[in-house]
Amino acid sequence: MTHEVVVVGSVNADLVVSVDRRPDPGETVLGSDLATYPGGKGANQAVAAARLGARTAIVARIGDDAHGGLLRDALSSAGVDLAGLLVTEGPSGVALITVGPDGDNSIIVSPGANARLLPADLDPGLLSAAVVSFQLEIPIPTVVAAAKQASDTGARVVLNLSPATAVPDELLALCDPLVVNEHEAAFLLDAEDDAAAMAAALLERGPRSVVITLGADGALTADSAGVTTVPSPKVEAVDTTGAGDAFTAALCLRLARGDALPDAARYATRVGAAAVRRPGAQSSYPSADDDLPA
Ligand code: ADP
Repeated sequence: MTHEVVVVGSVNADLVVSVDRRPDPGETVLGSDLATYPGGKGANQAVAAARLGARTAIVARIGDDAHGGLLRDALSSAGVDLAGLLVTEGPSGVALITVGPDGDNSIIVSPGANARLLPADLDPGLLSAAVVSFQLEIPIPTVVAAAKQASDTGARVVLNLSPATAVPDELLALCDPLVVNEHEAAFLLDAEDDAAAMAAALLERGPRSVVITLGADGALTADSAGVTTVPSPKVEAVDTTGAGDAFTAALCLRLARGDALPDAARYATRVGAAAVRRPGAQSSYPSADDDLPA
């Protein structure tokens, strides 16, 4: 088995401008200089896992535009295996982000090449790993097909249901774990409740295990062995962008190395907490020899 973690997912260029206020329809406002960062949930997870020392590969599509080069370089310098990174004629995925005066983000995602990652692109040889990790910024049929193939090769399937999107029961049944924040849990269940109750209700939908992330409060895990609450280290949060992706990547790494789910989640909350101490997504991720908050 060559890889510990294979991430099947999105790669985006995040284009960020700060504004004093957002324009009304038909209006123009001036903003800050444009900042361009590598992002996308799939790329974030792959970079986070590789930086923590996991043998990591990504299955994704970028465009043949200038952003594609930046995105490839970010993955490659983190040490991600790019054999499954395909190039499409046309634009890469882009997230157009305006940051308001209170630090609030408004985001438009243009999927670009991510929308063209199709089931026919999948190579079962690239989906053989200890853990194969998914999010929902690529077409759902591709996620379903790849999760089935990964499961057939004996890989453990991890799905972060983000952005919150309806998925078929056959996909939920493959998840071990399904990773959601409280909003995504409430979306799937169509009801809000406390985290332990939502985890129990989610388990009934078919996944073998569930992890609910709770921001500064850490996470909760649930499987047939029971429910475990995992507190987060206390840190000063500077920017929570991409913290969920770092959490999931760290979880995948530890599951790939044989940890029980609560132990993997304990490590993941430390990595998630490390990621909120610094600005940005990929730029905030710790490496294996960094001291993690305890
Ligand atoms: P998402 O970012 O996907 O909405 P959460 O807000 O639940 O998910 O955050 C994911 C993980 O990031 C948490 O489980 C935790 O490990 C870490 N995290 C997020 N916010 C904080 C915070 N303020 N302090 C410490 N850790 C945090």
